[in-house]
Amino acid sequence: MKTILSYIQNATNIAIFTHQSPDGDAMGSSLGMYHYVKSLGKQAQVIVPNAFPDFLAWMPGASDVLVYDAQTSQSDAFIERADLVICTDFNDPKRIGPLGDKMLMLTCPKLMIDHHLHPANFADAMISVPEASSTCELVYEVLSTANCQLSTDIATCLYTGLMTDTGNFSYNSNRPQIYGMIAQLIAAGADKDAIYNAVFNQYSVDRVKLVGYCLYQKMRVFPEHHTALIYLSRKELYRFNFQKGDAEGIVNMPLQSKDIHYSVFMREDKATPDEMAKNGGIKTKIKLSFRSQGNRPVNVFAQEIFAGGGHANAAGGEFYGPLPEAVQRFLDNYTKYFKTE
Ligand code: 5GP
Ligand code: MN
Repeated sequence: MKTILSYIQNATNIAIFTHQSPDGDAMGSSLGMYHYVKSLGKQAQVIVPNAFPDFLAWMPGASDVLVYDAQTSQSDAFIERADLVICTDFNDPKRIGPLGDKMLMLTCPKLMIDHHLHPANFADAMISVPEASSTCELVYEVLSTANCQLSTDIATCLYTGLMTDTGNFSYNSNRPQIYGMIAQLIAAGADKDAIYNAVFNQYSVDRVKLVGYCLYQKMRVFPEHHTALIYLSRKELYRFNFQKGDAEGIVNMPLQSKDIHYSVFMREDKATPDEMAKNGGIKTKIKLSFRSQGNRPVNVFAQEIFAGGGHANAAGGEFYGPLPEAVQRFLDNYTKYFKTE
């Protein structure tokens, strides 16, 4: 903590990066840090690799964020004069796409604050705590060590990440200290009920119908391994006027059944030019999400079969090629990893 703080103290232009397809914890931890370093009088810029979903656009400071794939030259202009980079909620430059290659060429110090397993060795100082509920929890601890007076903006950002990375405190949320933090965040002005509403109750009617379609028409159940699989082609997404973020949370829903212990969700997407270049020109990217209950890790499966990773009960991966091939790859492998009890 102290080392991290002394790097921040000595910096003037701070670039803050977070992972691709930013979620509530990615946005919360990067923006929480952003508001903190701004309060110290530093120049700061949050840069995300690609767009964040609309349901996070209300977050304090979100309108100041630069999106690297759409605002590359503006982002590069800041990065080139940065004298410190802070990476939040990811632990491997690969998780930020082309921004990662850019970062590795920089000579300024790099800090990492994260809660994923197996950090890559790229940072000059890091806080890596896989037991933590969220990166926001770790940012909170950094700011407490600094005796930071929490502003409403900081509290709102950090609460958002704590809430989203624990499914509104329904998993990964048994560490007692997080409830002490929540009390402090609310005391500092975070409106937990309003934040819940802003994040979870802002979907379009199309998205609500998409959920119905997924569960009624698309969910395949493999009873022996207590596993549910849902996959959606681009054609199906188009039918429901799919917007970024609309798939959020669908993967968790099959777990509402007492008979489902593992849930897998796949969605067909277009590979970016950079991803195509790295994958032999294949245009189709399949994004996969894995969820499980209890002592049934899915991150090893995600890593070994779908070039991904994540947490024991919430992981993700990707596949380059047609959707039926991704489904087949899943079917060929899951029984080796998923438990029958
Ligand atoms: P989601 O299913 O919400 O996209 O991702 C769940 C978690 O899995 C994320 O918080 C992240 O830790 C991890 N994850 C998702 N996609 C990938 C990926 O492509 N690579 C790695 N290493 N981790 C991923
Ligand atoms: Mn996180």
